Amino acid sequence: MKKVGIIRCMQTEDICPGTTDFARAAAGEGAFADMGPAQIVGFVSCGGCPGKRAVARAETLMKRGAEAVFFASCMRKGSPIGMPCPHFEAIKDAVIRKLGEGAAVIDWTH
Ligand code: SF4
Repeated sequence: MKKVGIIRCMQTEDICPGTTDFARAAAGEGAFADMGPAQIVGFVSCGGCPGKRAVARAETLMKRGAEAVFFASCMRKGSPIGMPCPHFEAIKDAVIRKLGEGAAVIDWTH
């Protein structure tokens, strides 16, 4: 079973416990379909706007065994309230730069 880390929107924490992220990862569905059932080794937030802490947190997730870093769908897609992160592309680019171009960085979960 692959190990993954998930980074989520801190602004969404109050209204979403991430239930669907855990369910999709365990079932190997949604964004996890290519890898099959996955074990979540860390589920952290971006640290709050504008999300700069996501870079260090992504690095920590990899150090803790994650083979891929997923951005929860609250970030790019704005789930569940339909309000995407205005900083998402900058956050994603910075995380990829830090982890390296070959790193598995997936920009949604479900
Ligand atoms: S930077 Fe984006 S993902 Fe992070 S709290 Fe703000 S809106 Fe949410």
